[in-house]
Amino acid sequence: MFSDYTFTAADRFLRYVQIDTQSDPQSSSFPSTEKQKDLSRILVEELRQIGIADAHMDEWGYVYATIASTTDKKVPVICFCAHVDTASDCSGTNVKPILHKNYRGDDIVLPDDKTQVLKLTEYPYLEKQIGNDIITASGATLLGSDDKAGVAEIMDLANFLQSNKEIRHGEIKILFTPDEEIGKGVAHVDMKKLGADYGYTLDGGEKGSLEDETFSADGVQLIIHGVIAHPGYAKGKMINAMKIAGHILDALPKDRLTPESTEGKRGFIHPVRVEGVAEKCEIDFIIRDFETPGLKKKEDFLRTLVEETLRLHPKASFEYIVTEQYRNMKEVLDLHPRVVDYAKEAIERAGLEMKMESIRGGTDGSRLSFMGLPCANLFAGEQAIHSKLEFISVQDMNKAVETMVHLVQIWEEKS
Ligand SMILES: [Zn+2]
Repeated sequence: MFSDYTFTAADRFLRYVQIDTQSDPQSSSFPSTEKQKDLSRILVEELRQIGIADAHMDEWGYVYATIASTTDKKVPVICFCAHVDTASDCSGTNVKPILHKNYRGDDIVLPDDKTQVLKLTEYPYLEKQIGNDIITASGATLLGSDDKAGVAEIMDLANFLQSNKEIRHGEIKILFTPDEEIGKGVAHVDMKKLGADYGYTLDGGEKGSLEDETFSADGVQLIIHGVIAHPGYAKGKMINAMKIAGHILDALPKDRLTPESTEGKRGFIHPVRVEGVAEKCEIDFIIRDFETPGLKKKEDFLRTLVEETLRLHPKASFEYIVTEQYRNMKEVLDLHPRVVDYAKEAIERAGLEMKMESIRGGTDGSRLSFMGLPCANLFAGEQAIHSKLEFISVQDMNKAVETMVHLVQIWEEKS
């Protein structure tokens, strides 16, 4: 099926990464940076060239497009989604991608900053890339494979299906979003216009990997009210809220329940911001767990710790405000097992070893799942993301395209 097809994902990728699309967590506009639309406009143009007439960008910078069904069967509408923005951890301006053909396992020294060296010993996944063609940045910036790999792969899927119309599949929706990296990627998605039944984000790492789980997440805002007095006449009166806050932070567990001490399926309580004066001090926490009841346990634990500390300062008081942030998408995906089952099968048909993984964070997919579009995350080949050592192989990108082609056929076959 793929033997006489020339994959275009890598060529597209090499072009897309040169367009600066960094999002900005400080911005209050949407999209957070106008420059994200520079890439979105190109994507619309290219989709139209491929023959997808309804491709367009809306006022918010979302790209919507439809690949028409090629079957008489009634097949659920599948959406493939990727984000155009890159993270603010590392510069995304003047990205100069370099293609290293036929990688041999040697260190790759990046030319624009020779201290940036990609080593097989530090990135063992490189072992699987020997003989493959690897793309890196030049050392001064990130590469942007997160998630321009996903974007390029979906574009190539569209190109493949448009030029191989004998392949049977239902209607397919394409969605490219801005601002995923700042957690706002789905804020203005028009679900009705999108009109999809199930979705896949193309925003994962290692080939063959599939993610159906994210953290469940809450935020806790703790406001401590002290008692203020003139410091010269404060004896027996003043209660310093900042000192209570210090107490609480010091009393938090150190070797468990922290991001620094946990991995795998364990969650945590993590203070992310402190702000205050003697009269009033606020601490913001993020609470993470794969099980939603586990969040509640952690919130109760933290609350008890706060109460015990405050008991030492009876004149002080506190407010404890829990806000839901997002939920583990598995809660939704378990109700729609076909989404994950068919993806597993597609990965196997692409000749890859399937690897189930869970994401220690949230994704657009977890939010979309709870907005009515059950969504799993497929591998895109991204490695060492948000860093100057980011890399991806051309072969992994092509495998992601193959996997999607199998996936849309499986949905058709089983409908
Ligand atoms: Zn991403």
